[in-house]
Amino acid sequence: MSTQYVQVAVPVPMRQLFTYQVPSTMQLPTIHVGERIAVPFGSRQVIAVVIALSDECDIGSKKIKNIAQRLNDSFHLSKPLVDFLRLCASYYHHPIGDVFQQALPKLLRQVKKLDIQPPMVWHSHTENKVEQVAKLASKAPKQHALFLLIDKHQGISWPELRTLGYSKTQLNALAAKDLIVEKEQQSKPFIWREQALNEENQQCLSTEQAVIVAAINQSNEQFACHLIDGITGSGKTEVYLQAMEKTLASSQQVLVIVPEIGLTPQTLLRFEQRFNVPICLHHSNLNDSERLDTWLNAQQNSAAIVIGTRSAIFSPLHHLGMIIVDEEHDGSLKQQDSFRYHGRDLAILRAKQLNIPVLLGSATPSFESLQNALSGKYQYHQLHKRAGNSKKAKIALIDVAQQQMEHGLSGTLKQQIKHTLARGEQVLVFLNRRGYAPAINCQECHWIADCQRCDKPYTFHQKQQLLICHHCSSQKRVPKQCPSCGSVRIAPIGQGTEQLEQRIGEFFPEASTVRVDRDSTRKKGELSKILQEISDKKHQLLIGTQMLAKGHHFPDVTLVAVLDGDGALFSFDFRASEQMAQLLIQVAGRAGRASKPGKVLVQTNYPDHPLLQEIVHNGYQHFAKQALIERQQALLPPFSFQALIRAEANYPSYPEKFLRALTEQPLNQCEFAGPVPAAMEKKAGKFRYHLIIQSKSRKHLHQAISQLLSMIPEIEWQSKVRWSLDIDPIDLNW
Ligand SMILES: [Zn+2]
Ligand SMILES: [Zn+2]
Repeated sequence: MSTQYVQVAVPVPMRQLFTYQVPSTMQLPTIHVGERIAVPFGSRQVIAVVIALSDECDIGSKKIKNIAQRLNDSFHLSKPLVDFLRLCASYYHHPIGDVFQQALPKLLRQVKKLDIQPPMVWHSHTENKVEQVAKLASKAPKQHALFLLIDKHQGISWPELRTLGYSKTQLNALAAKDLIVEKEQQSKPFIWREQALNEENQQCLSTEQAVIVAAINQSNEQFACHLIDGITGSGKTEVYLQAMEKTLASSQQVLVIVPEIGLTPQTLLRFEQRFNVPICLHHSNLNDSERLDTWLNAQQNSAAIVIGTRSAIFSPLHHLGMIIVDEEHDGSLKQQDSFRYHGRDLAILRAKQLNIPVLLGSATPSFESLQNALSGKYQYHQLHKRAGNSKKAKIALIDVAQQQMEHGLSGTLKQQIKHTLARGEQVLVFLNRRGYAPAINCQECHWIADCQRCDKPYTFHQKQQLLICHHCSSQKRVPKQCPSCGSVRIAPIGQGTEQLEQRIGEFFPEASTVRVDRDSTRKKGELSKILQEISDKKHQLLIGTQMLAKGHHFPDVTLVAVLDGDGALFSFDFRASEQMAQLLIQVAGRAGRASKPGKVLVQTNYPDHPLLQEIVHNGYQHFAKQALIERQQALLPPFSFQALIRAEANYPSYPEKFLRALTEQPLNQCEFAGPVPAAMEKKAGKFRYHLIIQSKSRKHLHQAISQLLSMIPEIEWQSKVRWSLDIDPIDLNW
């Protein structure tokens, strides 16, 4: 047998592939691209993925190592997936081993032999149970709803039910009544059957919706990017559901990417209720074996639909026929550390590679997508009407410059809240600042408790009686005395959601108040519990951060109050106004869902500001078109392309010198901006600098990046700094 070599991606943050020799005893069965094998790496063995095979090798025979073992399992990556991951690595100029690592569940990255049990799923058991089920409806409505769901969606898994807000106790109660039964999941390839579609809850499409579904159906089986720009409540989900029917009916798989699953259980529920096909979830609240189950179901073609957050884009779906990206404008689709990819952009890349359609949906499309739609690169579909007869929420401004404020609330706003509560309706108060107070200070000498590592004030968390730095997470006790003058008059300044919750309770003692932010929902299952309580109308006043602006709808909320509408008006980040407009419109979309009209009140010191005027009077689309003209004049994205190199070190001069050395490189049709200190110049004890590389041509930008990366090892300062590269950055705040 001739000598055989493999080039593999090793799960380490290095940019190159590694070559190993395949001993003749291991050459059969034939090795394929995408196979996972164990190789020696340093002093240990790691799992690597075969990227290429060859008969030749330019490493000396003394230096080359043999592969350690073949795993003889079937958990491989397909050739198209390997090609896709290589494309990802080259687009983002990211270490290829790290990219492959993202695509494999943790358990498949271990050399240890896997003991895989088939996942357990739930089925209903209805023979002679009509009476019992009817009784359940009146006695235990939650259990009844759970039973109906399982009855409609046979073979639903525990992670799905948990994500939908059901508990183990409810499941066990139904099992004890012999209404449901747990079975091993049959892992057989998904094939469409007549009864896979539950037509009874299918909605009648409006003309607007029907036109879109027809356009998508027409482009099926080839690449096309559809932007569905539809106001909240206009029925985007129904368009997705009906558009994917044709794909599923041809026994192809559908991948649905959402920003955060925990915040959109209602959307998930609609998928489960509509299609009685195997659906798998992929998100951060799964444990390792649940993640592996999803991966295997996708890879073995037994999942028909995979719904997940951004990293679901790497799911090994072999028969992928359509990708849907919901809330495509959402910043959480972009990963902000190590491999900085954008889930939406990769969805488009993957759809193109597989020659299948991709659907992007949003009520507030990103400027990138909007520009591509307006220029005809994407098919542009608009939904202007809300489904049913519900009306769009009206946005109005409250000028607070001349008003007396009490704990962040103007008199006008308090009146409005009072009236709304008196009508028995719910109010959502939006403040994008968690914690009790953004700082504490000494009332005598005005000393402020700063995090020494970030030069920024600590946030005061009253419940825990702690100072927490929201930038580096370091914690500290509240000092009893001012370290500067010895005074004991230490007090919080400003207001966060924790304090607002307390104060607002004093203004409206009859109303029950609940807070939804990262702190109040940290415990597993807490978020779905709170969301359920809100929909059961146990609370009248909802206080929250941007978490509340995402996806979830609250039909009984008829007033949304935005306490601080000025946050982004004067930002240095050119995207701040886009993000603020999206946030305002998204928050507004939470209100007035049902037949009750909603109202959004925004407190501002600058009611005449053109951005606010534009949003209030002309809406998002008009605002976006205006803002796009400005971007074009300034040659900012999407009219140019950017890459951002961040560098940090213990001394401010190192990152600056490192980045400056890069700017000495002459580039073809690209420009440098910087180096400049980052917006947060100091964080966790490190000094941080930015360098932006910008070009009108994506191709030239990528050539420039390759050029810069190749010169980095020769820069004197490179060993003294930590640097990272961000292609198409969306957050310049870092
Ligand atoms: Zn003092
Ligand atoms: Zn800090």
